[in-house]
Parts: sequence; structure tokens; C-alpha cells
Amino acid sequence: MSLVIILGDQLDADHPALRDADAAKTRILMVEALEESTHVWSSKVRSTLFFSAMRHHAEHLRAQGWQVDYLRLGTHPFGSLKEAWLDALQHQADEVLCVETGDHRVTQMLEDACAQAGVPLTWLPDEHFMINRADFAKWAGKSKQLRMEMFYRMMRKRHGVLMVGDEPAGGEWNFDAENRKSFGKSGPQGLSALPRFEPDSLTQQAMADVQQHLANHPGHLDDFNWPVTRAQALQALDAFMQHRLVRFGPTQDAMWRNEPFLFHSLISSSLNLKLLNPREVIAAALQRYEQGEADLPSVEGFIRQILGWREFMRGVYHLDMPAMKSGNHLQAHQPLPKWFWTGQTRMACMQQTIAQTLQHGYAHHIQRLMVTGNFAMLAGLTPQEVCDWYLAVYVDAVEWVELPNTAGMALFALGPRFTTKPYAASGAYIKRMSNYCEGCVYKPDQKTGPQACPMTTLYWHFLNTHEASLAANPRAALMIKNLQRLSAEERQAIDDQARQALANLDKI
Ligand SMILES: Cc1cc2nc3c(=O)[nH]c(=O)nc-3n(C[C@H](O)[C@H](O)[C@H](O)COP(=O)(O)OP(=O)(O)OC[C@H]3O[C@@H](n4cnc5c(N)ncnc54)[C@H](O)[C@@H]3O)c2cc1C
Ligand code: SF4
Repeated sequence: MSLVIILGDQLDADHPALRDADAAKTRILMVEALEESTHVWSSKVRSTLFFSAMRHHAEHLRAQGWQVDYLRLGTHPFGSLKEAWLDALQHQADEVLCVETGDHRVTQMLEDACAQAGVPLTWLPDEHFMINRADFAKWAGKSKQLRMEMFYRMMRKRHGVLMVGDEPAGGEWNFDAENRKSFGKSGPQGLSALPRFEPDSLTQQAMADVQQHLANHPGHLDDFNWPVTRAQALQALDAFMQHRLVRFGPTQDAMWRNEPFLFHSLISSSLNLKLLNPREVIAAALQRYEQGEADLPSVEGFIRQILGWREFMRGVYHLDMPAMKSGNHLQAHQPLPKWFWTGQTRMACMQQTIAQTLQHGYAHHIQRLMVTGNFAMLAGLTPQEVCDWYLAVYVDAVEWVELPNTAGMALFALGPRFTTKPYAASGAYIKRMSNYCEGCVYKPDQKTGPQACPMTTLYWHFLNTHEASLAANPRAALMIKNLQRLSAEERQAIDDQARQALANLDKI
């Protein structure tokens, strides 16, 4: 008997282990284990999405004639995946098949369980990525510093995406310069209604289980509206392609109060659970471009996120684990403020971003990078605590993508491994890219004084603290030149204000 283990983020309708398998000689095991929701304090939205999508997938497999053992949370005695696997391995397995995981910890657990039970384990490649791990490692070679832009160009050529012969379509590899606009005073115009995915009985049961077993976990379920089946994921993709892709590019970095979704695609959870394949997502965007329904900056900007950033992050995660998990290049040791779990802070930008995160399990890239991530880096929050928060609260969070984005991009905790400089910004950036600052108790242009914006104070303090290393970095030199224009008194006042803020982070 073959035991096929399907993890919560492996809900592939065309699973490689089942493609040529004999249903009479194959059992599938899917487990909801408490430890997966507690090793980080997983939000109710995230846990519900995983459980509901897993349960729908198990039903789909059974309807196709597969034997599926599904262990639902609260109905079995196993606290961890490993305990459940060890039990199954005792009874019914001559071999185990599993697609390579997106979490180093889970890989170790399965290898340990199989070794302990003396059952051979075969890892199958994850076909939901467009470069395999060996080829990524070959591309990376022994380079100390990896750059996404070079990787992305290689992927464009390799897959013939937006290429005219050997040249990029439109003569440019990227249109970033056109894709950094704010909404202006009038705010986002022409937002379309999102498709509704009303919770069916399986989702309602998943919600009830989460409310019962994870009652004290963060987040709310009142607005749960994530695709839990492939059919729903395709509907979400189609809605984006029809109504929002055309507006995605120019304002992909912009933010607006009480508008959590704007023109973003909202497909990351479907991609990461493997309800969607990146190839079909890219093909759909290319089709809009070829039909003249979306312009190049939007289509290129969108494809770069998937063919570039998503694949790059996955490659670098597997290359750099387990060391990536303990990176702390800036020696940051400040504890995570409690309000990260409630959103109860007076900083309007943080309040908005965290509140929508707890409500929907979602914030878009710039909110994650330049609001919560920027604050965490400027305040010197401990990377491992911040990474655990990101892994807990987002519906699309799996470690292969969460960790490199958080530790590597947002916190500069991996140094220059794949970003040239820290993504540090003051309140001026948030004022330019959003309307959060209007009505905030703080003033984005004030570094010191009773209404000084914490982002701004901590930005200058950050430059002050890391002046020597940033001055040596040509990409950061301009920031340091601006710092050095300040008088000694101004720098001292910023330092005093920052120290006071850091001593009272829970009340900020
Ligand atoms: C600190 C931090 C943590 C993050 N954690 C996660 C995470 O746990 N899971 C996750 O899927 N993404 C993560 N991202 C990347 C990005 O924020 C999300 O993929 C995106 O916001 C999801 O929303 P969307 O589907 O509407 O994406 P869109 O903005 O519409 O982008 C389209 C798609 O591109 C991909 N993508 C975009 N940016 C990235 C990126 N930097 N890395 C990998 N894929 C990308 C996603 O699959 C996304 O669905 C993180 C970014 C930061 C800065
Ligand atoms: S003033 Fe500062 S804290 Fe307030 S919203 Fe703007 S950037 Fe955020």
C-alpha cells in the first residue's frame, strides 16, 4: 500500500502522486493538527481557510474514487502532524509519497517520522513553481548576493514571457517608474465589487471548529470570503482579469483608508494552497495584453510579481534554510508590541493595516512592506517575533514565502543577501502614498515634539543608529547625506524622542 500524504497547502487537482496511481493500492492521509495552528498563533481566518479548503479537497478526491483518511481537528488524539503520521505508518504503509513541502520544519518532521517507522519516503517535485529547486540553486551558484531582477530576466527568457525575440516586449524589462503612483486627492476610482464566496456547510463547520478549538486566537470570521475550491479560485482570477488588472500597475503601491483590496488580485492564498497554477495565471494576464484589454505596465507589473518575486522567494528560501530563520543582521531585539494582535494603536497607518489584517487575513504588498514591516525595522523589533506574526495573520502565509519577504525584504535581517539596502521610509512616504495621515493624531513631517510621527522619529533614529554601515552602502548614501545635514542638537532631540517612543511602544 502507498500512503500519499497531502498537506494543507498541497491541494493540487492534478497531484503528481495520484496521476498514475492505482486507487486500490493507495491511501491518502490528510491531517488537521493543533500544532499547525499553535506553533505560531494562527489567526482564525487563516486556519479556517486552510481547514475549509482541505475539507473540500478531500471531498473532491473521494468523489473521484480515492480512499482518503481525513483527521479533523478535535476528532483525533494527535497533537502534531508527526504523531498522526507515525500512527498511520504503523498500520498501512509500504511507502510514503509526498510533494516537497514549503516549510522546512514540516520536511524534517516527515523525514523523522518515516525514518522512525522504517518506511521509505519519496519526495515529489512541487509542480506549482516554474523553476525547480536544483535549477534555482544552479542559477544562484555561489553568489553571496542574489538579485531578483536578474533572476526575473532569466525566467522571462526561459519561459518566453513578454519577449520579442531576445528582447523584452516594449523595450524595457520593467515599468516600475510608471507603477508607483498614488491615488491623488480623489482617491481610488472605479473599484468593482468582489465576487462573494458564501460559506457553505463545510466552511461553516470549519468556522465552528476554529471558534471551538482556537477560541482565543486573533482575527474575526464575520467577513470570511476567500476561495476554498479550485472553481472559486478560478472565479476570483477571472474577476481580477476582467475588472482590476487594467488598473493594477500604476497604483499597485498606493493605499487608502478603509479600502483593503483596491486593484490587487487577491489570488495569493489560492496560488499558495495550489488551487491555481502560476502558469495559468500568467497565461490569463498575457491573454488580456494580447487582446489589447490591458496595457504593458500593468501586465508586466503583475507578471513580475509571480514569475519574478514569487519564484525567487521560494528558491532563496530553500537555498538558505535553516540559517534564514535566525538572521538578525541589524541586531534588533525589541519585543513585538501587544497591539500588533489587536490593532489598537494611535498610529493611523498601523491601525488601518493591522485592523484589516485581523478582519480579512489580508494586506497588500506595500502595507506589509512599508507600513508594518517598515515600522518593525525602524523600531528594531526582534525579527523572529515579527516573522511569527506575519506567518500567523495572513491567509497566504506559508513559510517559504513569508520568511524571505519578512526577514529578507522588510526587516533587512539577512543583510544584503537579496536587497541592496534597507527599505526604510519616514512618514513622508506614507503621506505621499495614502490618506492615512489625514486625521492621524501624529504629523508625518514632525520628527520631534508632542505630535511627532513615530515613523518619522524612528526613521531618523534608525539612520542615526546605523549611520556607519549605511554610509558605506552607495544605495543608502543619499539618506545619510540628509541625516548629516541635521545639526548636533537636532540629532540629539531625535534620539531623545526615539528613546522615549521605544520605551513606550505599547502605548504609541
Ligand atoms: C513582509 C511581507 C510578508 C509577506 N508575506 C507573504 C506571505 O506570507 N505569502 C504570500 O503569498 N505573499 C507574501 N508577501 C508578498 C505579497 O505581499 C503578497 O503576495 C500579496 O500582497 C498578496 O496579495 P495579492 O494576491 O492581492 O497580490 P498582488 O499584489 O495582486 O500580486 C499578485 C501575486 O504576485 C505574488 N507576489 C507578489 N509579491 C510577492 C512577493 N513579494 N513574494 C512572493 N509572491 C509575491 C503573489 O502570489 C500575488 O498573489 C509578503 C510581503 C511582505 C513585504
Ligand atoms: S502621521 Fe505617521 S503614524 Fe500617523 S498615519 Fe501618517 S505615517 Fe502613520
